[in-house]
Amino acid sequence: MDLKKYESKRDFTQTSEPSGTRGKKHESQSRFVVQKHDASHLHYDFRLEIDGVLRSWAVPKGIPLEPGVKRLAVKTEDHPSDYINFEGTIPEGHYGAGTVEIWDSGTFKLIDYNMKKLEFYLNGRKLSGIYILINTGDNNWLIFKK
Ligand code: MN
Repeated sequence: MDLKKYESKRDFTQTSEPSGTRGKKHESQSRFVVQKHDASHLHYDFRLEIDGVLRSWAVPKGIPLEPGVKRLAVKTEDHPSDYINFEGTIPEGHYGAGTVEIWDSGTFKLIDYNMKKLEFYLNGRKLSGIYILINTGDNNWLIFKK
């Protein structure tokens, strides 16, 4: 896990986004967040805290609430753990310019994972149940509720 890509895209003198301290590894409660990001294209950033960073996917149509609905999820760079609480405005002219608000948050439990597939139980305010993320090639993944 490496935050260099995250850091290289941002000027922390200009944006209020966190500058990248890492969380503790092996926290007993793993956290997730879904941030509604109204940027050049509205999307939902889905982030799972794993090994002290937030593994992240951009989900254009949002995470499905019902089983059977598959949504595209594009893998994006790992984010620092403290990004999990970020809400606010990223200024014009900067990477991801627009507004970020927390759409859902909670804890999750990994059931099974490898490089191509993650299965996990989400316990959030809106999202709950078993979800699967499957890699379909390059940075493209699908997310759906089991
Ligand atoms: Mn985003």
